[in-house]
Amino acid sequence: MPTALNITSVPVRVDEDKCIAHKGCTVCVDVCPLDVLAIDIVKGKATMKFDECWYCMPCEKDCPTGAVHVDIPYLLR
Ligand code: SF4
Ligand code: SF4
Repeated sequence: MPTALNITSVPVRVDEDKCIAHKGCTVCVDVCPLDVLAIDIVKGKATMKFDECWYCMPCEKDCPTGAVHVDIPYLLR
């Protein structure tokens, strides 16, 4: 799986102002079947660690603060 080097181009974006990972939330990391999300310990925010996604959406739906946005490719909509 390729590592997500360019964070601006990955399919899942986390609004760091809304993310409450610093308060212990790990919901998006826990629900992702691909295990591509992780908590950035330094920032205390969720982030996309690997540039891979099934667009299955629980990360966006289950985030308690609406911080996750999955950018579904046009051809999959
Ligand atoms: S579920 Fe939402 S608030 Fe919780 S860690 Fe993920 S992005 Fe942050
Ligand atoms: S859409 Fe699915 S595969 Fe992609 S990051 Fe969210 S939970 Fe993981």
